[in-house]
Amino acid sequence: MSEITNTSNIVDIKPKPPQWFLDIQEKGRDIPEIVKIINEIIPDWCFKLLDDYSVDYPHLKDNWNHCCERVETTPNKIVIVRDIPIERDTPNFRHIHTMCDYLTKLGCVVRRMDEIIECSVCNRALPTRVLYDAICNLDTDNVQRLIQIKSVLPDKWSDKCKDCQ
Ligand SMILES: [Zn+2]
Repeated sequence: MSEITNTSNIVDIKPKPPQWFLDIQEKGRDIPEIVKIINEIIPDWCFKLLDDYSVDYPHLKDNWNHCCERVETTPNKIVIVRDIPIERDTPNFRHIHTMCDYLTKLGCVVRRMDEIIECSVCNRALPTRVLYDAICNLDTDNVQRLIQIKSVLPDKWSDKCKDCQ
């Protein structure tokens, strides 16, 4: 447990991890089991797990793959949560951000429920209309990336994938 080179190791969390966090670590990469424990600590925070993004949004999958490469893991689950608070005085702020970091290290992507919905046919993740509009109006200095994203983006938003209509 003491290999310094293993970046996925959470042993140096400060202060000393509480028991529930140790219980979570024991579950390895089993996200449904981890979510059960999280929901006891942060009631109703996590409420859906999806396996993948819709093929209509390859750039979302690309982003996910890049995040996983950065922490040397492979894609696991898309974890849909009620909220990821920005204000530090929000209840559970610290717990929520600790869990977001931890889930990311396990190859999960944590998204807010107002950003992601589930295709009712294939159960893959789709952006909500709000996120779709935000992607359409994306403002970035990386013009090449913007052109690349816009070239693959569906012409109009839908709550189902193109092939699931
Ligand atoms: Zn679908």
